[in-house]
Amino acid sequence: MRITNVECYLVKVPGPDPAFAWRDGLPGSWPDGDGAVLRICTDEGNEGVAFAPRKGLIVQNIVDRLLRDELLGADPLQREWLWHRVWELDRVEEMPLYVLGLVDVALWDLAAKAVGLPVWKLLGGYRTEIPAQASTVTYSSVEEFLDVADQIIELGYTSIKLHAWGDWRRDAKLCAALREHVGDEFPLAYDGSAGFDLADAIRLGHVLSDAGYLWYEEPMREFSVTAYKWLAEKVSVPLLVGETSDGAHMNSADFIASGAATGGVRTSTELRGGFTGAMRIAHLADSFRLRAEVHGPIIPHQHLCMAIPNNTYYESLITSNPARRESIVDSDGLVHAPTAPGVGLPPGLDYPAELGQHL
Ligand SMILES: [Mg+2]
Repeated sequence: MRITNVECYLVKVPGPDPAFAWRDGLPGSWPDGDGAVLRICTDEGNEGVAFAPRKGLIVQNIVDRLLRDELLGADPLQREWLWHRVWELDRVEEMPLYVLGLVDVALWDLAAKAVGLPVWKLLGGYRTEIPAQASTVTYSSVEEFLDVADQIIELGYTSIKLHAWGDWRRDAKLCAALREHVGDEFPLAYDGSAGFDLADAIRLGHVLSDAGYLWYEEPMREFSVTAYKWLAEKVSVPLLVGETSDGAHMNSADFIASGAATGGVRTSTELRGGFTGAMRIAHLADSFRLRAEVHGPIIPHQHLCMAIPNNTYYESLITSNPARRESIVDSDGLVHAPTAPGVGLPPGLDYPAELGQHL
């Protein structure tokens, strides 16, 4: 089997409706824009597809300049070799993280379709359902957060993760108020979206420790493993690290070796080099009895959630008030394993508005 055709084309992707906010200092939800579809075809009629929901022009440019020539004539079932080649090309190109795994996702889609299985089974299926964690956007006040939390629980979710304002005092008050509101047993987590320096990350971390939060995610940019090591030495709330840093499993390994990954590491197809990179991280973390929590609500991540034993939740974004439950989450707050062969992206050249929010 040989790759004979590599296409990359743009598709219009609508921004979320209504628009939403992230922490102070960050842009909010993305506007209408261009995504990119990568389609890899073979001489035996196989096809693999991957989708980048945003920044399609950048993806298309890198496919056109670098990746197509590398792929044409290659065996699409040699995913490890082609994964290695993408990292070699990255040495000079310094590709954005969201491009590094795109070829790999398309190749897993192709291989799984060729044998008529969903990707999660080909990865070595572990489970057929998983709880969704409601992951909030940033609302305007403590009162609104508590109101949305009530709605989330009513919708069936069994865990909540906050994205708050990035002001440690204000966020600390919210985190304590939510703990008080939902009681001691309800699993809560907090995501700082890299809004703090070390001193403020420690201050907020003490509050999360006292409030019994499940994990404390990305309080600082993930450039300094040492800063995270120092934070881990100061706070008892488990840290979840390595979501956005470059270097896939190689970088995650350093977070683990430093002692910073007290709650585990993030993994994803989107930012950790496709399925191949994400599974390397999952197995690496498992070797140290650590969690590898899957980041973000896209279709490939439904497959990772079913394939990775040491993952707890599917991250399901709650973007509005009134709160809406993602269509793949049932009334018990569970996500079920995809059944279509491959990744199971929607067919055709365009994507419905509902999927545009979460792909
Ligand atoms: Mg995160």
